[in-house]
Amino acid sequence: MTSLPKVDTNYLTKFLVDLLNTPSPTGRTEDAIAFVEKEFSAFKNLKLSRTRKGALVAKWDGKKNDAPRALTAHVDTLGAMVKEIKSNGRLKITRIGGLILNAVETEGCWIFTPKGEKIRGSLLVDAASGHVYGAKSTETKRDEDHMEIRLDAVTSSEKETRELGINIGDFVAFDPRVEVTNGFLRSRFLDDKACVATIVAAIKTLTESGLSPNQSVTFLISNYEEVGHGAAAGIPSDVHELVAVDMAAVGDGQESDEFHTTLCVKDSGGPYHHELSNKLRLIADASGIPFKTDIYPNYSSDGEAFWRAGGDVAVALIGPGVDASHNYERTHTDALVATTNWIMAYLLTE
Ligand SMILES: [Zn+2]
Repeated sequence: MTSLPKVDTNYLTKFLVDLLNTPSPTGRTEDAIAFVEKEFSAFKNLKLSRTRKGALVAKWDGKKNDAPRALTAHVDTLGAMVKEIKSNGRLKITRIGGLILNAVETEGCWIFTPKGEKIRGSLLVDAASGHVYGAKSTETKRDEDHMEIRLDAVTSSEKETRELGINIGDFVAFDPRVEVTNGFLRSRFLDDKACVATIVAAIKTLTESGLSPNQSVTFLISNYEEVGHGAAAGIPSDVHELVAVDMAAVGDGQESDEFHTTLCVKDSGGPYHHELSNKLRLIADASGIPFKTDIYPNYSSDGEAFWRAGGDVAVALIGPGVDASHNYERTHTDALVATTNWIMAYLLTE
């Protein structure tokens, strides 16, 4: 069995918590990209660049360069934009990505104005008061027409809200509500910040152990995954293999769980590359990394985004099990460490 250097779990957790607390709804990801870039800049073997679309690229020269590899994970998350300023001064929103409105009902949020200011608020159903609306407050469908942001600012008209600096198209970021308890990490948007953290932890662990990748590798931290085209650009054309690192879907009928890392062999976009998936299985077995194999029913990844954009590479998908995905998500440190180990073993392999 190939022995791997030990992952610093405290470092991984702290980096992840800080990244989770950096708001980054798709379309407004600069803060999170800059946060990861700063961390990457500590590793002198990485050559950093940005795509014109704003994603972060890090290249690490390997011992060989005849079959370069790439790994990708995304920092963008679900969120919303201001769709309409209502006559009562409250805001209608349009969802970004597959945001489940029930899951963010009553959640605190920030509205980012074009002048760089941020205004606090919370998302409520438009018949929120139980004393006023009675049964209607439970029966109202939680959709974009019936949910509104109540601002923590004095306004009761469209005009007053506009005077606060709020415009149509302002980004809305919901509070992640991060908690770490008994090895569990509970937060919104573990998808896919958890996997960004595993890539960073893998690079740090290898670097500090004086190890380097067997094949040259490009890391793409993408910023438009939740809307389907994140890694469509940014993977160099000479790359032979792309491993997307994204969360595994946990629920009824699924093999995935919060304590394991998972190989996804098929999702809504069809099967992943069989030989690369098998290679990852062999690598995990050889390194003593327990993993699950699963199929995700309502899911697609940045690996498929690159395939659809014409990428001629083998693509596979691995990642930690995340319960209640796109809802109030939760995973466990065991799954994060296992994913980090798998990434390291892949980078070191022939
Ligand atoms: Zn994701």
